[in-house]
Amino acid sequence: MNFDLTEDQKEIRDSVRKFAEAEILPHYQRWDRTGEFLTADYMKNIVDMGLLRLRLPEKYGGQGYSFVDCGIVCEEIGRADHQIRYIISNAIHLGEMASSMHPALQEEWIPRIANGEMMSLAFTEPRGGADAGNIVTKATRDGDHWVLNGEKTSITFTGVSKVVFVSARTGGPGPRGLSFFCVPTDTPGLSTSNFDRMGQRLDRGGSMFFDNVRIPARNMIGKENEGFIWAMTIIGYNRNFVPLACLGAAQKSLEETMEYLKQRQIMGKPATQWQGVANELATEATKIEAARMLCYKALSLKDQDKRHDAESSMAKWWGVKVANEVLYTCMRLNGHYGWAKDLPHEQRLRDCLGMESADGPREVHLGIIARDLLGKKFAPF
Ligand SMILES: Cc1cc2nc3c(=O)[nH]c(=O)nc-3n(C[C@H](O)[C@H](O)[C@H](O)COP(=O)(O)OP(=O)(O)OC[C@H]3O[C@@H](n4cnc5c(N)ncnc54)[C@H](O)[C@@H]3O)c2cc1C
Repeated sequence: MNFDLTEDQKEIRDSVRKFAEAEILPHYQRWDRTGEFLTADYMKNIVDMGLLRLRLPEKYGGQGYSFVDCGIVCEEIGRADHQIRYIISNAIHLGEMASSMHPALQEEWIPRIANGEMMSLAFTEPRGGADAGNIVTKATRDGDHWVLNGEKTSITFTGVSKVVFVSARTGGPGPRGLSFFCVPTDTPGLSTSNFDRMGQRLDRGGSMFFDNVRIPARNMIGKENEGFIWAMTIIGYNRNFVPLACLGAAQKSLEETMEYLKQRQIMGKPATQWQGVANELATEATKIEAARMLCYKALSLKDQDKRHDAESSMAKWWGVKVANEVLYTCMRLNGHYGWAKDLPHEQRLRDCLGMESADGPREVHLGIIARDLLGKKFAPF
């Protein structure tokens, strides 16, 4: 057991932190306030930094990062703006998908995403996202094409993504009747609408409507009716990227709060010299460290090609909960300033609260852990 980062990993951490502080953090609050989206010019920074090529196939410039390396990137990006993590993890997913994609699809989409165009992943439907195996969006075979009908909702980058990877029913009921498709978002019959949400305004959450959307048969990813199994493989490791990005945001707020409280005089001495305050800071630092370790343990299992379902579920529900608790504590310890929009703590909390639902609510993850502990026969599902 070795908890040390390698020299290469320290280099990844330091260079991504430097980049994020210089190129992402200064825009974080403005993006939230103005509602503006990332321009192609801005995306060039992310592209040039190599953040969209971490796990692409070698011929597309992939950098062969391990999943732990990718986790380090997500955590560091989260310190600046955890929404940017979506763009990076989507490109990682594309790398994992590549070998299941028709060569023509690879040629078309991998360079475009690697060069900064947006993609979406669409599983969730209006009748409920937690039960992703029971969707009703339907794909019907028509000669050399598939025709999609249905609605997806709460989809990140709705209205700005150029392509969506979408689950649809091609077989019988349940998770074994699902397939996955690559759908360019300018395909006739696909329309979108966006939500007005309390946080993550950059992620452009919204609904996608599929009305007789016709795509070539080669746009199916992987095998017919095996889409759910494939999708679960993707969701599996992502359950660590999500909390790591939130923990990065929480760590940043904790560091800023500590600096503030060292300067803030409370009844004649620095606030940190009041034991109640120091204990809160120490408690939150402990919680972040423990949650972070869960994420890296699960990613390390993934790197070793070992099962990590229960560990990733522990990391997801616990890591997001911890991050939100820390952000709330930071807001409170900054007094009335913490509640004001001048400081980033309230925005970080608004943004990270959404991650309680995204990638599955905690009840689903507790169910997965329970199944691992108790066995399928005695677990809730
Ligand atoms: C910021 C954000 C980004 C997102 N991005 C995407 C995206 O890009 N693509 C995509 O497909 N989806 C996305 N989602 C949707 C997300 O995956 C769903 O919110 C999630 O799967 C839960 O589905 P739901 O919100 O429909 O809740 P429901 O499934 O309706 O569940 C509601 C509540 O019921 C309870 N519950 C659910 N299941 C169980 C159970 N088995 N046992 C006990 N209690 C249960 C939980 O408390 C849960 O919160 C995003 C969501 C957010 C908030």
